[in-house]
Amino acid sequence: MPDIGIIGAGTAGLHLALLLQQAGIPTRIYTNQTAEQLASGRPQNSVSHHAPTIAREQAMGVDFWPATEYGYQTHFHYLNIPDGPPLYRGDFLRPSRVLDYRIYLPRLMAEYENRGGAIEQRAVEPADFERLAKRHDLIVVAAGKRSFGEYFGERPDMSPYPKPQRHLAVGFWDGVEQTDPRSVTLSISPGHGELLDLPITTLDGWASALLCENVPGGDLEILMTQKESDDPEAYRRLLLDKLKAHHPTVFERIDQSRFALMRPGDMLQGAVRPVVREDYRLLEDGTVVLALGDAHATVDPVTGQGANSASFEAQVAADAIIEDGVVDERFAMKVALRRRERVDGLSTWVNTMIATPTPPQVQRLLGEMAGLRTLCDEFTENFSHPHRNGDMVATPERVDAAIARHRAIGGDPTGTAG
Ligand SMILES: Cc1cc2nc3c(=O)[nH]c(=O)nc-3n(C[C@H](O)[C@H](O)[C@H](O)COP(=O)(O)OP(=O)(O)OC[C@H]3O[C@@H](n4cnc5c(N)ncnc54)[C@H](O)[C@@H]3O)c2cc1C
Repeated sequence: MPDIGIIGAGTAGLHLALLLQQAGIPTRIYTNQTAEQLASGRPQNSVSHHAPTIAREQAMGVDFWPATEYGYQTHFHYLNIPDGPPLYRGDFLRPSRVLDYRIYLPRLMAEYENRGGAIEQRAVEPADFERLAKRHDLIVVAAGKRSFGEYFGERPDMSPYPKPQRHLAVGFWDGVEQTDPRSVTLSISPGHGELLDLPITTLDGWASALLCENVPGGDLEILMTQKESDDPEAYRRLLLDKLKAHHPTVFERIDQSRFALMRPGDMLQGAVRPVVREDYRLLEDGTVVLALGDAHATVDPVTGQGANSASFEAQVAADAIIEDGVVDERFAMKVALRRRERVDGLSTWVNTMIATPTPPQVQRLLGEMAGLRTLCDEFTENFSHPHRNGDMVATPERVDAAIARHRAIGGDPTGTAG
């Protein structure tokens, strides 16, 4: 039975470790942050898990936050254009859920340890790999988007942007009324950026994670460049002004007297460059070093996919380890093949959505979704199957085909939410 060393205790590393643990395969996690450090730190993201990830959590016995109670099943969309449509709606077949990772990751770390797993706190660098290979048969790098990037090398065909395409600001805010039904709102201000309003369960209860995806050089970029920590009250007022101008359907749900971060510092400002890296490398003795999760493929968070992809990749790797019991280069090639369709399709989707200017087929799709409810439902449900949205938006002809398919079945033009 192979022994697996896993670097990183994020979704990729923990899901892989829990899946292998269930199969009785020995694992050890190396991570540079303790559960306590994660729980007491600032938010690093605002993650929605979609149904396939939640089903995986159920199978692993770690679905401690049932989506029936903590989740949502609807997306509302708003396009801020003159004479544009009112809010329009798409539904998932099964619910998604947004949970503060300062709750999620420490809980899963504790569960893995309670079941006998070992977590060693230390920072690992590529120079350590040869030594780790004496202890483990496979090294999995699940260390996130920042570390080890150069070690694997980028795939130029799937890494089109030399710089981030959005400048991000996300905070966990009190005072934003939830929609009925509970939903994620995706509001688009063409040329300036997107806003995702996500119903998140935080350390202090329900909040609204307002994820501002701002186009560099646009009117909203200041939401990233003006540091919230320099003057929280000035930032709060700035955000209200920008929401009023660019994302009015979210602004009108805000009670300004209550509008405040859940905790001081519940805010992240930064940027993500989308990149897909090579799948693996071999050490001199033949040991495979496999890239997993963000260490393998990093996407802009505008469509809420990175962690779901990390979980999917963990399942692919776990299946291949369990099936063959051998972790040689053939195993690594198998993992690469099995995950490529989803990972590449997902990257195609996200990279097309964040292109500047917005590609005409994306504008057309979003416009048509307002009147074709079944198309809007399909686009929404595909957040659970993101490569299918990659297929749909890749070219103008593909968007035309999707629209024609839904027109042919009537499209149920009742998608407006009044
Ligand atoms: C604002 C924002 C919103 C997002 N929203 C969503 C969403 O809605 N849905 C979604 O699916 N995804 C979303 N994402 C993306 C998601 O957060 C990531 O894709 C996901 O967390 C990646 O998981 P991972 O396990 O690969 O890496 P990480 O979660 O980054 O985990 C990496 C782990 O490795 C450890 N580590 C790092 N370096 C070392 C080292 N040298 N040695 C040892 N350990 C190390 C870290 O401590 C950590 O434990 C969002 C991201 C952002 C920024």
